[in-house]
Formats: sequence, C-alpha cells, structure tokens
Amino acid sequence: MMTRRPYVMIAISIVLAAVLTAVAGWVMAQMREDALASARAAAFNMALLFERDTQRNFDVYAMSLQAVIDAIDDPRLAGLPDDIRQNVLFDRSATARNLGAILVANAAGDVIFDSRSTLPRDVNIADRDYFIAQRDSRQTGLYISQPMIARDGPENAAIGLSRRLEKPDGSFAGVVVGTMKLDYFRRLMSGVEIGAHGTVALTLADGTLLMRRPYAAGMIGKNLAESALFQRIGRAQEGGFFGNGPVDGVRRWFAFRRVDGYPLVFSVAVAAGDIYTEWRARAWIIGSLTVLLDASLVALAVLLSRQLRRRELLEEELRALAGTDALTALANRRAFETRADHEWLRARRSGQPLAVMMLDVDRFKLFNDRYGHSAGDRALAAVARSIGAHARRPGDCAARYGGEEFVLLLPDTNAAQALAHAEKLRSAIETLDIPHADSPNNVLTASVGVASTSAGSFESWRTLIEAADAALYTAKRAGRNRVAVWQPSLAGEPHGAGPDL
Ligand code: GH3
Ligand code: MG
Ligand code: MG
Repeated sequence: MMTRRPYVMIAISIVLAAVLTAVAGWVMAQMREDALASARAAAFNMALLFERDTQRNFDVYAMSLQAVIDAIDDPRLAGLPDDIRQNVLFDRSATARNLGAILVANAAGDVIFDSRSTLPRDVNIADRDYFIAQRDSRQTGLYISQPMIARDGPENAAIGLSRRLEKPDGSFAGVVVGTMKLDYFRRLMSGVEIGAHGTVALTLADGTLLMRRPYAAGMIGKNLAESALFQRIGRAQEGGFFGNGPVDGVRRWFAFRRVDGYPLVFSVAVAAGDIYTEWRARAWIIGSLTVLLDASLVALAVLLSRQLRRRELLEEELRALAGTDALTALANRRAFETRADHEWLRARRSGQPLAVMMLDVDRFKLFNDRYGHSAGDRALAAVARSIGAHARRPGDCAARYGGEEFVLLLPDTNAAQALAHAEKLRSAIETLDIPHADSPNNVLTASVGVASTSAGSFESWRTLIEAADAALYTAKRAGRNRVAVWQPSLAGEPHGAGPDL
C-alpha cells in the first residue's frame, strides 16, 4: 500500500516556503519602516541644525545692531573725529560674518552713518519696509525685511535686519539696519545630504521664500502663504508630514521647524523615492532570494518525494516478489504461512470456520518423464491459474506449497462448503484437458484433501493442514482425481469422480 509520506513532504515544503515568504515579507516591511523612520529623523535633525545655526547668527546680528545703538546713545560720540567715531560705532559689528553694511538712518530716513564709509552714502530709506516697520511701532524689535533682489544679480539678494532708534522720550529717532546676504542660507543648505530629489526651503513667517535648494533665483521673494504645504505647517513650532511638492509634484516627507525667536521657517523635504531607493534594491534581492529559495524548497521536496515514491514502489514490488512463486505467480509457502497465521487468529476471534485444501497433481512424475520438464512447468502454471481462480474472496489465499503441491486457505468456510468448492476446482483442472497419456483419464488431474475447523478442533493451522494432507492421502489412495474431506472419526473419506486405481 502506498503511504502518504510523499505528499506530506510536499505539503510541509509548501508550508515552509509560505513561512519563509511571510518572514521575508515581514523583514522587508520592517526595513521599509526603518528607512522612513531614519529619513524622518535625518530631515528633523537637518531642520534642527539649520535652525540652531541661523538662530546663533541672528543673535550675533542682533547684538551687533544693539552695539551700534549703544554707541549712538553715548553723548560723547558727537565730539569724536570721523574715523574714531566710525570705529566706535561699528567695531563690534565687524566680527559678524555674513553681515553686510550697517547703516544708521535718522527719523526722516536719511542715512547718517555707514559702516562701509566715513562719508555716508546719499540715500533715503524711508520707503523701505524695515524702516516703516520700526517707525510705526515701538514693539517691532528685530525686524527682518522682505528679500531685496539687487540689481547687480539675484545671487546678491539680501535681507535687512533693522532695529529702532529712540530719543530719550521714546519717540522715533531712526533705524539701524544691517544687511545679510541670502547666500549665507544657500551655503548652509548646500552642505547637507538630502538625496537626489530632496528640497530645503527657508521662508519668512508670512510665507515669503528667502532661499531654496535646489536654488531657483526666480522663486526668491515669492509668497507661498497660499500653498497647501505652507497651510499645513500652520502655526506649529515644528512637525512633519507627507505631501506633494508644489513645483514638481514629487511626494516627499516634509520636516519643518520655526527658528526660535525669529520669523523664519525651515522645511527639509526628503523624496519618498529617495527614502526607499536603497530599500527597494534590498527588497529586490531579498525578494528574489526568497522566491528562489521557495522554489528550490518545493522542487527539492517534489524530487525527494518522487524518489521516495519510486523506492516505495520498488519495495512493494520486492515484497510482492518475495511472497510470490515465480513459476505460478501464486503466493509462496512463506507468504502463505503469514496469511495462515493471520487468518487463524481472525477465525478464532470471529468464531467463523476456517478451511484449507491441499492439492497434489496426479502422476506428475510420469507427465514430466513423457512430456519433458518444460511442458511440466507449463502444465503446473495452467493448474495454478485454475487454483488462483478459485481463491476469489477477500481472505482467500492460494499458494504453491512445494513442487506440484498447492494449498488454498478459505476463511469463513465449513467442511461442506470447502468440499463443494474443492470439487469445483478438481473438475476445473480436469476440464483443462491437458493430455496425459500415462494417466488413466488421459488428461492431467489432481487430488484434493479438505479440512475445516467446522469439523473438529485444531490446535493450530498447521494441524489443520496436516488434516487436509491426510485427506489428500486418502484421496490418492482412493484412486486420485477426487476430493477427500477430513473427518474426526475416520482418517478421511474419499469423494469425487474418476475410476479407482
Ligand atoms: P502422485 O502424486 O499421483 O502419487 O504421483 P506423482 O508422480 O505426482 O508423485 P510425486 O510427488 O512423487 O512426484 C512429483 C513430481 O513432480 C516430482 C517432480 O519431478 C515433479 N515436479 C515437482 N516440481 C516440479 C516443477 O516445478 N516442475 C516440473 N516440471 N515438475 C515438477
Ligand atoms: Mg506430490
Ligand atoms: Mg503428485
């Protein structure tokens, strides 16, 4: 019988492959999450870095402007010669890198001091936003102007940082304004790694774009307050979200951060494509390896199971061969004994009778002598087919017991039934019509001895066989080509047709 092991093996391999795929999928999902998490962290850190650097610089500028205010407030200033006054006014501010010229204007907007020259330039700044903001309010503090796009090129664009000058009574006395080149932010932004499609932007709190990476001169000064991205930032101090770039539509993770104390907002955006580039490459490798592994696992299982099945078939064949007589294809004596053991126990359990028939070909020695051994073999095979045809029920077993002797095991069969069955078999062999010139019937015949447990009590199937053998002897003695059944009283009574010899 075929076991189910091969299929179990394939099933297990499929389950294993599924588990492997699930694990790989989970790992890839984790890696994807990690990629996003680290990209987010990097974006936040960059925004923080920009904020800190900018804040420190603006603090320095504010101090520089304060230094000028302090100097102007000193009544001794007016008495100083121009060059010394220049030093006193702008000495501390000279240390501020990135800070351009510092101008001091009076209440009318006329420039009265210029850090670049002892002779102030002839300019009036009364119409500039950084002047107006200070003039109109005492509460402005450090004012950061709208970007000023210089005529000499957009790369020289700057913002003005102004502070209010007041008379002792608090009334407006003018402004101190320093300029700062936006190029400072450009350099700040250029140093960091944001991926091929990342962007960085700095805007004023009102949405005016001051600097952007990738650099786009035409966009500086544009107000983005109405853009969806700026709307999402809202009033939050810091945060992050996924959004599509307003210019190129690229999906990015945006990390934004306000510069503490100043109306400035940094946003760092990392493109989703860049975030997952590395992950995608790894996922491809892991994915292909997993598929390969899955396929090999199942293929291996299929191969192995085929091998296993082949081996089982072979084993089965060998087992069958071991239990089969080569000439007659009936069970051999060993196989018969195994079956007899089994049927004997079964009969004992069920209480049903068990019968055996012993069959011996009549005058076979003479047949061999006359027709030759090969013809004898063919005749034996033909007789065996007849015997096999009379062992049709599930528990029946026909076997070659040795030489030209055969045995038939018949479960659930009493003596009378066994006798009738044996008679049919005997008659069937006779009607095979195999010529046998040295036999009184002129055809090959056989004698049969029958015994059943219904007719007496037996210690084992071996004693049952002995009884059948005894009956066979009776049949032979009674003239052959007949059936004899074992009876407890007699040594076996002959039955059947054929002349006595
Ligand atoms: P009877 O049984 O009627 O008393 O006479 P018999 O001639 O059959 O008696 P015996 O048992 O002495 O002879 C059996 C013969 O069967 C001996 C042997 O040559 C022959 N024989 C046994 N096995 C084979 C076999 O496999 N092939 C052939 N051709 N002959 C066999
Ligand atoms: Mg014999
Ligand atoms: Mg014989």
